[in-house]
Amino acid sequence: MTAANYPVIRCDGGCDAEIGHPAACTVTEVRCFRRPEGWRQRPAGRDICPDCWKAGRR
Ligand SMILES: [Zn+2]
Repeated sequence: MTAANYPVIRCDGGCDAEIGHPAACTVTEVRCFRRPEGWRQRPAGRDICPDCWKAGRR
């Protein structure tokens, strides 16, 4: 549980990276904003950070 009062997405690739976005009000918007940076969402709803994606941990 985080103390953050804004939505965040958490990497499910195994590294526990967590990220939000100042302009995002929902996790859907976080995903949208972070997608150009390399964050991806898998069909099962798992979020994968750029590092894990490149490393093949999908
Ligand atoms: Zn990761």
